[in-house]
Amino acid sequence: MRGTLRSGSNQRLSVVIVGTGFGGLAAAIELRRHGFTNLQMFERAESVGGVWRDNQYPGAACDVPSPIYSFSYALKPDWSSLFGRQGEIQRYLEQVADEFDLRQHIRFNCEVVAAKFDEVDAIWRIELNSGEIVHADALVMATGQLSRPKIPSVTGIDRFAGPAFHSAEWDHSVDLTGKRVIVVGSGASAIQIVPAIADQVSELTVVQRSPNWVIRKSKRVHGPIARFVLEKSRAMRKAHHILLFVGYEFRWPLVSRRAKLIRLASEWWYRRVIRAHLKDPKVVRAATPDYTMLCNRLLLSNDWYPTLAKQHVHLVGSAVDRVVEDGLITADGRFIEGDVIVWCTGFKASEFLGPIRISGRGGIELNDVWRHGAEAYLGITVPGFPNMFMMFGPNTNSITNSIVFLLERQAAYVRRGLQQIVCAGGGWFDLKSLEHEQFQEWLQEKLNETVFTDSCPGWYTNSEGKVTAMWPMSHLTYARKTRRFDSAKYDHGFGQVSSSGDVDALGTVDRSLREH
Ligand code: NAP
Repeated sequence: MRGTLRSGSNQRLSVVIVGTGFGGLAAAIELRRHGFTNLQMFERAESVGGVWRDNQYPGAACDVPSPIYSFSYALKPDWSSLFGRQGEIQRYLEQVADEFDLRQHIRFNCEVVAAKFDEVDAIWRIELNSGEIVHADALVMATGQLSRPKIPSVTGIDRFAGPAFHSAEWDHSVDLTGKRVIVVGSGASAIQIVPAIADQVSELTVVQRSPNWVIRKSKRVHGPIARFVLEKSRAMRKAHHILLFVGYEFRWPLVSRRAKLIRLASEWWYRRVIRAHLKDPKVVRAATPDYTMLCNRLLLSNDWYPTLAKQHVHLVGSAVDRVVEDGLITADGRFIEGDVIVWCTGFKASEFLGPIRISGRGGIELNDVWRHGAEAYLGITVPGFPNMFMMFGPNTNSITNSIVFLLERQAAYVRRGLQQIVCAGGGWFDLKSLEHEQFQEWLQEKLNETVFTDSCPGWYTNSEGKVTAMWPMSHLTYARKTRRFDSAKYDHGFGQVSSSGDVDALGTVDRSLREH
């Protein structure tokens, strides 16, 4: 019977991992290190890296310090600056894939379009865009929250005569020199792009629906001695990593409603910073948020306001109403003329596994279960979808510390879950609905104690006002909650022997299943 395993036979358990960004790599490394070698990873692009492969726009860099925005077991001693740039992070991830020998497991240019749990055989049947079906005992979805660019569906989008592209799909063939460029949006991507291209273009207009709080970004670069020590000593690298992590961990109480005074003081300070840089009262008004600091992403930049102060850079505080042949019209009726439009309008973040059709027990569809907003136990498992795990799933985003720490905890939780399957002699584990409901109640209670439920602009909240992105507690709390896979919280079952006998091993192609 498929799914029946001898205790301790980690190698036999077949696992499919979808995505090879930070999350997918974290899962694969954790599993390989614990003897799970029957892995298959699917990557729709031609290289690893996820968002760090895709977001190649000018100025792209991390806004979390790289020594903690990297794997704790693959610390890089020689980041060129505290906040690594896109190319450097992408190269780091490529090196990690090589160092941990993961490429043998990866099939590039291969997109997963659907996955269906077969209760008879206790197996996931995973459909690729080629029509091929692959089987696995367990499925790990590591497709990220920010992998599908979102361009607003305003009228006339195809009427624009010049080049127009999304920040995550930067068209490097377009020379911006001397062009009038319109940037739509002022989120984390836009505030890096605008300063990076400002001196190249003749006119730059930022069309901004809501302003963001933008704070100072440290420019710290390690001196030669610190670099030497970090390069030579693994222990020092580890200590540096831990110290930075602990330092950042102290920031999480700031999102609590109780930290109102600290936030008010910071808001007061940064209003002064805005006024110091921008002289035109209209621009000052447009650039100043009227909502609580930290209830959406806090942005880091030292050159955003100085760039907005430049003569040829204009900030327009309005949404986009429609696109016309030579520019766009804003919601307040202004015509912005331009040669190029760059949509810095974010990602379909709240749709999570979005276009991938995932069916669980009894044929339930994940998209139906999530129609009012994605939910998962610890952001990892969902009742009705046995042996399916998520990396960077619902409510696991954080603005106070590094997401990579959470990914490592999720990877360890997935690994422990798989070890339980092996120990139980195979079969499936399905989260109990009651456990899920109790967790969601706890989560909502904790979210209500934070500013994330303040109805701020941004992608942390879905269109129905539900906070689907954020983790409301500290990283250490997440580590504590994920430190063991409690099988009592899960139903356990075995598949039944199908009439057709055993199912193919992982990776074999069963074209007769195409009707799925
Ligand atoms: P984003 O933060 O979601 O910003 C999208 C921007 O587009 C917002 O200003 C939004 O306005 C605006 N917008 C959306 N629809 C619009 C419309 N119809 N008309 C006018 N404006 C519209 O997207 P992002 O800048 O790409 O960043 C997404 C996430 O990626 C970040 O939150 C962050 O987590 C990650 N990121 C990280 C880094 C890093 O350094 N680590 C760098 C870049 C991105 P509203 O605010 O009003 O919705």
